[in-house]
Amino acid sequence: MTRNPHAGEPFTNSDAEIAAALDDVSIPALLLSCVHMSGDPALLDGPLKPAGIFLNEVQGYMSEDDKAAARTLALGIIRDYRDRGCPEPAPVDAAQLQRMMNFLACAEVPDEYVPMMLEEMELDGRDSRNTTFESGADARADFPVIVIGCGQSGLLAAIRLQQAGIPFTVLEKNAGVGGTCWENSYPGARVDVGNHFYCYSFEPDDHWTEFFAQQPELQSYFQGVMERHGITEHVRFNTRVQSATWDESSATWSVAVTNPDGTRGNLIARAVISAVGQLNTPFVPTLAGAETFAGQAFHTARWDHDVDLTGKDVVMVGAGATGFQVAPAIAEQVGSLTVFQRTAQWMFPNPNYHSAVGPGVQWALRHLPFYGRWYRFLIFWPGCDSGLAAAKVDPDFPDQQRAVSEMNDLARMMFTEWISSQVDGDPELLAKVIPDYPATGKRTLQDNGSWLRTLTRGNVELVRTPIDHVEADVVVDADGTRYPADVLVYATGFRANDLLSSVKVFGRNGIELQDRWGRRPAAYLGITVPGFPNFFCLYGPGTNLASGGSLIFHSECEVRYIMGCLDLLIAADKRGMEPRQDRYDDWYERCQAELKTLVWSQPTIKHSFYKNEDGLVHGLSPWRLVDYWTWTRSPNPDDFVMN
Ligand code: NAP
Repeated sequence: MTRNPHAGEPFTNSDAEIAAALDDVSIPALLLSCVHMSGDPALLDGPLKPAGIFLNEVQGYMSEDDKAAARTLALGIIRDYRDRGCPEPAPVDAAQLQRMMNFLACAEVPDEYVPMMLEEMELDGRDSRNTTFESGADARADFPVIVIGCGQSGLLAAIRLQQAGIPFTVLEKNAGVGGTCWENSYPGARVDVGNHFYCYSFEPDDHWTEFFAQQPELQSYFQGVMERHGITEHVRFNTRVQSATWDESSATWSVAVTNPDGTRGNLIARAVISAVGQLNTPFVPTLAGAETFAGQAFHTARWDHDVDLTGKDVVMVGAGATGFQVAPAIAEQVGSLTVFQRTAQWMFPNPNYHSAVGPGVQWALRHLPFYGRWYRFLIFWPGCDSGLAAAKVDPDFPDQQRAVSEMNDLARMMFTEWISSQVDGDPELLAKVIPDYPATGKRTLQDNGSWLRTLTRGNVELVRTPIDHVEADVVVDADGTRYPADVLVYATGFRANDLLSSVKVFGRNGIELQDRWGRRPAAYLGITVPGFPNFFCLYGPGTNLASGGSLIFHSECEVRYIMGCLDLLIAADKRGMEPRQDRYDDWYERCQAELKTLVWSQPTIKHSFYKNEDGLVHGLSPWRLVDYWTWTRSPNPDDFVMN
């Protein structure tokens, strides 16, 4: 029998080596690994336990004394386990697993979450999000599918199609895999969801060199996954999809592409999965005089690596999640850096944000049974739906400009304290960096102090006055102050509300998706649209996450659902499936009603890519992760029209 991949590789390390490794591991996760190794749950009732759980707090607020005692206890258990030859631990029953979750969560994990968390952790070593099929293998082999985009969600779809024996082609406009992780190669680019959770649930997670990996490591992760799963030969890189058109008579999609050599081509498939992402069309504001600028100017998602910034005067327009990463990465190298920021950003402390994964943690991830799986729980759970509660508007809260509820106000106070503590002696800067809208109203940033430290450098200036115009080598603000500029960097984000605008999609009766949507983009469960048979969206309308979770988790939910849809369609030997109009309408209305009760929609949030020009939010999910997970486990045939 093959060993459970999460049971860890057997080891023969000395006591001293093991003791050294335990120095920097997460003690709460270590204690649960000890329960597996010893087979003794008594530890769950002992005095050594986490005192609380919070985002990025991987030691559960345990005291130094308790952590030291836990290490001593663990060393004995690990030594014994090693001396027994590192046998695969016996399976643990569901009731005990729930107790183990409660131990780590420092609270009762509600029953409805238990199956979701178990599935996410795969403690049984089974990739249970991989669909089991009703349809026949021969029928599946006769059902070609096209995936548009080879970012994290498109790659995932490809892996599942491969496993299902469904022939597929992935069309990718870039030269490599990764999507936004391919395109956003600006200095300082890194993920801001912990990588031991921000990775596919069914892939190893013991290799990350940093807790929040930088872009090159992320991109090579996707490259490695693509190669390991034999996907590479199914991907056509440098191939841009122009349009996808449904042909009723043959019940196929005709996908028009521009090939790498510039010629046009056409591919035919029974279904199309769009995995084009939401943040891929750069937004560059129109600045008066920008055309007269004599230096180099580029958007962060099109970073020009040929431009040497050493000693240059750089002006960066915009400072959201991207600018916040760029500035600390270039400040030391440039001559001067002027940052134009329209809206200040909320941020919260994350001491691990730029930290390397030490050798002890890497050893534990590789060798200690289920350590990595419980570590995954530890970083997932605090961001699992509790952020949504803090985003909920309490209409009775008296000062809606300040906060939308008491809980939201608590977040504001915590974030304010974190920001203030860093710029204590500089009231002028403090006034510029404390946001004037409720906490979590825009994307909240993870911070280890590097942003504010950068702003206090002698060669960096934060400007909150709007830009008036640009000249050949200066940017002039509305007060007439002139800022020298050799290089102009646009960290101004993306056209996030133009969902799926990069591809023209023509459904039944030649209707184009953008016309169907107008300024109301929606999809049932974020995935299917009436009038567009056998067309499935990944990371579609209503599926972006603003209060926790990870897009990879969401993609795994969506892809399982889509595979279930394909199975229904193929098993029933039908030509096409699309959601019922009434289900779609009801979904849209419920999503909009819910979104209006959340902080992201509030009029106090003046500028935000979450809102479209009508002030409506369409990209985000207003739902708890556990609800979305439940709804997407398998498609309900009653939701669809099949013919
Ligand atoms: P963004 O959050 O939309 O920030 C754009 C910045 O440009 C903001 O400061 C914005 O000001 C400013 N801006 C836009 N138009 C402007 C105008 N006309 N005049 C003046 N300023 C203007 O875009 P982003 O920073 O690229 O981030 C987008 C999303 O990408 C994030 O929310 C996140 O989902 C993702 N992201 C993730 C990571 C990560 O995982 N580490 C890193 C980067 C990005 P306002 O705030 O006033 O609108």
